[in-house]
Amino acid sequence: MEYSIDENSAVQNLMDLLAADGPSGGEGPVADVVKQKLLAAGCQSKWIRENAGLRRLPKDFTIGNLIVKIPGTARAPRIMFSAHLDTVPICRGAIPIRKGDRILPKGRTGLGGDNRASVAAVVTMAQTILQNNLPHPPLTLLFTVGEENGLHGSKAFRPSEGGHPVMCFNLDGSGERGGVIGALGAVRWIAEIHGKSVHAAINPEGGVSAAVIAANAIASLKADGWFGRIDKMSCKGTANVGTMVGGEVDNQVMDRMTVTGECRSHSSAALKKISNVWKKTFEKAARELKNNQGECGSVEFFTASDYRSFRLKKSEPVVKRFLRAAPQAGRKADTEVISAGLDANSLNEKGIPTVTFDAGNCHAHDLNEYVEIPRYLEACNLTTVLATEI
Ligand SMILES: [Zn+2]
Repeated sequence: MEYSIDENSAVQNLMDLLAADGPSGGEGPVADVVKQKLLAAGCQSKWIRENAGLRRLPKDFTIGNLIVKIPGTARAPRIMFSAHLDTVPICRGAIPIRKGDRILPKGRTGLGGDNRASVAAVVTMAQTILQNNLPHPPLTLLFTVGEENGLHGSKAFRPSEGGHPVMCFNLDGSGERGGVIGALGAVRWIAEIHGKSVHAAINPEGGVSAAVIAANAIASLKADGWFGRIDKMSCKGTANVGTMVGGEVDNQVMDRMTVTGECRSHSSAALKKISNVWKKTFEKAARELKNNQGECGSVEFFTASDYRSFRLKKSEPVVKRFLRAAPQAGRKADTEVISAGLDANSLNEKGIPTVTFDAGNCHAHDLNEYVEIPRYLEACNLTTVLATEI
């Protein structure tokens, strides 16, 4: 069927969405703009579910995911499109202005094109389909909250809320790239170090310093190649110490210290191995540091999986559908694997194979952020092609 994207309303959608504030956990104003535009395009209010998963989100979140289920014009498996509603704090108060082929922030803020360009592309696709009566399979639009501060919305999402889609296209990311078919996984960890406190000048020999345990552990990890970029034979990834907090006064041997950090890898097995090496090294450092009574300290090492890595095969239907559609929208039929966490990590983990592509945003999380309008319009087109293949 012949159709074309209405470029003026596509750009207007983007401008309107960029002008709405939506920090992680406070996406209400953005969700309102999305809802109002979809209703105006012919979406029925019974297709729209607000605040999905709110109970499973952090307590200070004001809204949940926005889910829209558009009935198909044909019997076919359900396809989902997702985009996160939130922006990073640097985008607060952004005023979008158009300069030639770009949309920029007017003052010294980020723009929020990550991820409003994606939200706008999904909204434009729905408008195009509904207003032109294009044939389409059953569609689910998933607008998630709290992606930037921990993939909260996509983790809280349940496939049943989305009508059990067989695949998903997630719009996100910055810079031109192919369809993202793999992304790494991450583990966050906390090491609670317990030493033994004594007066630091009267009886230093009787103390066990938590600071020395931490220092020895980290120095040994660094020396053995487990700190920073890790490239051991079968183990590739990264590891970092983020914070170290401990001690109370200067004349007391430090008996408590909390160290936090993260590990990342494209391979779940490597990730497990890396976080295990960190745990074992902290425990060993605690065992080996003894006072004059032969006493040592201890470490409690806690890990929490932030998100799992995934890697889709080129033969997966979602990847094939993406590769067929991309050239029709002027994009290369390319795929890639990236080193960052996305809503796609959670969705793949929940059994919904998900490919991610960008909607023309550049320099996300940055004062130089902008949206490249031609690339944004390509994304509107690509989304519509993907949504109308039956
Ligand atoms: Zn994003």
